[in-house]
Formats: sequence, structure tokens, C-alpha cells
Amino acid sequence: MRGIVTKSTGSNYSVFAGGKIIPCRIKGLFRIKGIDITNPVVVGDEVEIDLQPGNDVAMITNIIERRNYIIRKSKNLSKQAHIIASNIDLALVVATPVFPKTSTGFIDRFLATAEAYSIPAGIIFNKEDIFDDEIKNYVNKLKILYGKIGYQCFVVSAMKEETLSELNDALKNKVTLFSGHSGVGKSTLINVLIPGLNLKTSEISEHHLKGIHTTTFAEMHLLPEGGNIIDTPGIREFGTVEFNPAEVSHFFPEMFKLSKDCKFYNCTHTNEIKCAVLKGLEEGIISESRYASYVSILNNEDIFK
Ligand code: GDP
Ligand code: ZN
Repeated sequence: MRGIVTKSTGSNYSVFAGGKIIPCRIKGLFRIKGIDITNPVVVGDEVEIDLQPGNDVAMITNIIERRNYIIRKSKNLSKQAHIIASNIDLALVVATPVFPKTSTGFIDRFLATAEAYSIPAGIIFNKEDIFDDEIKNYVNKLKILYGKIGYQCFVVSAMKEETLSELNDALKNKVTLFSGHSGVGKSTLINVLIPGLNLKTSEISEHHLKGIHTTTFAEMHLLPEGGNIIDTPGIREFGTVEFNPAEVSHFFPEMFKLSKDCKFYNCTHTNEIKCAVLKGLEEGIISESRYASYVSILNNEDIFK
């Protein structure tokens, strides 16, 4: 039987197959050549399972080749890596311009990472119910900016169901990964999209602001009208990509487009002459905040805050 892994906690797995969730274990080892993966089977994996009559627990016997996966490398020097999730159709960053405010630097790093993984991406601006006019204006500008680049934007409130129809449509029959800072309303939002789910939500606390989390496992939730959300509670970074300075602009689509007209093929778009990106910046074709994020990634600054 074929199914999709919805949860993985060490050696226990949940697999959605034949219309229900089946507890599973793995048999033997699955390996990816060249990297030392700490978790062989991950949320999003399509797997074959074997459920023997009389058993409650099935065995995962095969993993279908992954279309993509996002990975987190260990902070220490070991070559170990942890796959966060696989087979993602869309990656959405849940952000809010109010509290706790998400910086454009964080959004841009998320989007550039998605580009590096070749995963379509977009932005959810949450807490629309408490935007004042100035913030509405600001979000509108961001929506236009990111929309032009090709990122779908949703302005929503988890408190107002009527704001969610466009997002609901975009999620239909897709595997969508939700990521975002703690406190932006990701759990509240998923609870509204999936009635009856009841993920734990919490008041914004010291914990949120310090970025302290309890769980670190991704989990997949089935949407009532088809499709899945992969929630990444406590996973601060959306995969780890070591950006090669020469390639950072490849992951800023609007800059990449212009860069074909730079005088130097290896232009870093910082101080070179006849740089089409710098010219675009001057002319307002490239936004200042996007350019600042680009430079920040180029300089390897931590803009996760
Ligand atoms: P998470 O850490 O991103 O999962 O955030 P939670 O879902 O736990 O929400 C954090 C806080 O933000 C809670 O107090 C929620 O009630 C609040 N919140 C979530 N969504 C909204 C929203 O759309 N509007 C307002 N005003 N508050 C929200
Ligand atoms: Zn250039």
C-alpha cells in the first residue's frame, strides 16, 4: 500500500494511507548518498508500507524518490544533516507587520531559500484585523512589490474567516509548508483552516520573543478540501542553504533578470561599474529593502531576527 508520511518522531511514524492514519516503523536503513542524514524517513515522503493482518503497526518498506526536500545542517562540525520535510509544492512564510513584527529581511531570506530549493513561495500577512491605515498602506505596497516579482501574497486575519478564501483556494490539493516566527499566528491560522485540529496556540510571551520553542518536528495536517499543510513548529530556519556569494542574486528573481545586462559576468552588484542591478536600484525598479536583504545575505549577516 502507498501512503504519505504525516509525522515522524524518531523511530515512530504516521502514514496516511487508504483514507486513514496508520502507525508505522521502518525496516532497515534508507540512505542518501554523500550526506549523513539523521532521519531516514521524513514528513512529506511518499512511502510503501506493509501491514500484516493482525498487526496495528505497519512497516515502511520503500521511499519513493523525493521531488525535493529541505534540510537543516547541524551547527557543529559533524557532517550530519536533518531533513525537515519533502515533496513540497508551495512554501509560505507567515508574517505580520504588527506584533511580533516580521522584518523584510527575514521574508527575503525565506524567499531566497525557497528559490534555492526551486520551491514556489509566497507570503501570508496575518493579523489584518489590527492593521491601522498606515500599516494597511505598508502591506499594500509590499503586496505589490512581491506580487510583481512573482510571489503570491495573502493578507489575512486568523480572526476573520472571510479573509481566508483566496488562501484556501491556493492550498487546495497542494502540499504547502508553513513557516514563520513564533507568535505571528501560524497555529491559530492552521486551526481555522482545519476545523477540529486544535493545535496549541499561545499568547505572545517572553518565550516567543526569545524564540524559545518546545517542539522541533514538522507535522503534516490534512486539509478538509484536499491538500496538506506541513507545519514546522519550532523550526526557526526554513532549511539551511549556504549561499555562494556569486550566486545570491540568482535567488532574487528581479535582480537576476537585470543582471544579464551587467558589464561583468561575475558582477556582485555592489560597487562595479555598468551594473544593471545598481542602475535598477537607482531608477526604483529594484526596491531598496530587497536590495538591502540581498547585501545582507551576501555579507552573511544573520537576519533571522
Ligand atoms: P504561532 O506561534 O505563530 O503559532 O502563533 P499563535 O497561533 O500561537 O498566535 C500567537 C498570538 O497571536 C495568539 O495570542 C493569537 O491569538 C494571536 N493571533 C493569531 N492570529 C491573529 C490574528 O489574525 N489577529 C490577531 N489580532 N491576533 C492573532
Ligand atoms: Zn551587477
